[in-house]
Amino acid sequence: MPRFNDYKHKNAKFQTCFPWIRLARMVLTMLLLSLCLSGCRRQDPSAQISDVGFYFDTVVELRLNGTDDQNLIDKCFEKMGQYEALLSRTREESDVWRINHSAGEPVEVSDDTAALITLAEKYYELSDGAFDITVAPYVTIWDFQNNPGKVPAAASIAAARVHVGLSLLHLDGNTVTLDDPRASIDLGGIAKGYIADRLKEYLVSEGVTSGYINLGGNMLTIGTKPGDVPWNIGIRRPFGEASDVIATVKVDGLSVVTSGPYERYFEKDGTIYHHILNPADGYPVQNGLASVTILSESSADGDALSTSCFVLGLDRGLKLIESLDGVEALFITDDMKLHSSSGFPISD
Ligand code: AMP
Ligand code: MG
Repeated sequence: MPRFNDYKHKNAKFQTCFPWIRLARMVLTMLLLSLCLSGCRRQDPSAQISDVGFYFDTVVELRLNGTDDQNLIDKCFEKMGQYEALLSRTREESDVWRINHSAGEPVEVSDDTAALITLAEKYYELSDGAFDITVAPYVTIWDFQNNPGKVPAAASIAAARVHVGLSLLHLDGNTVTLDDPRASIDLGGIAKGYIADRLKEYLVSEGVTSGYINLGGNMLTIGTKPGDVPWNIGIRRPFGEASDVIATVKVDGLSVVTSGPYERYFEKDGTIYHHILNPADGYPVQNGLASVTILSESSADGDALSTSCFVLGLDRGLKLIESLDGVEALFITDDMKLHSSSGFPISD
């Protein structure tokens, strides 16, 4: 009858002869363990988490399906805080703040800031100058964040005009130079879309397959709802209540971004003064549009295009959208009529 030691010995001999079997067993055990961990923590189809926060001067919301891992949401909020510290116009020592206070000297910026400026330059070209991040001197004068309803003096807007224009900005690798010490930039028309794209990249790399990132109405979806059901995104009635939806659109992994005056404005003597400015004259755009919604794969593209199209107006905006692949738009005019690009999948 074999003794215990015989087996032990046989086993030891077996293992000495085939050390790779031990290695394979170890790898297999680790694989099973990690599968179990991710399965227990992340892959529960009925699990669902969501949370809200306040970043970029707006309410943000995250919703993840198929996971109960709060760390993912915490990490996203942490990333939002980092982007805010990098891209805010008003936060001292942000990249944008340093560019705007560089007094004509070159400034080294992060890869994210350089990527955003490159994208902004692309949309300046595509929109024929309608999208221009150097509108910042006008943004400062109007100060819609704090302005209780005072129209700035025409002379101060006229005086700012010479300090606006993308030709004043140069990007060479990660070095940014503003030729004019009184020129400045504002990434408010594109940053939220860019950040949403980065957050989605992170979540997808962590195995998230369903959810959405809502940065103050800039929606970026991940996959579909559980059960392969597309997300039904409501498009807000301009100047209506937040819950007043004028149309809905079904999407699967796409970004839905809207630009509209109602997001930040004041009314004076029957005129609405709002935050989307015409780079050519420094005044809020008045062209009969009440909002523009862009559907696209990338939220940075959607964000830049919604602002661009709002400035361009219905005809030029629609023409731009029709010239681009993989992008659709819905324009709403002041009379609340809907005008959509040829492939816009409007639900009702
Ligand atoms: P959005 O809500 O994405 O349309 O962005 C509007 C924000 O972009 C404003 O609050 C300004 O910070 C900035 N902005 C205003 N006018 C322009 C413009 N013509 N081009 C680029 N950014 C702009
Ligand atoms: Mg925008």
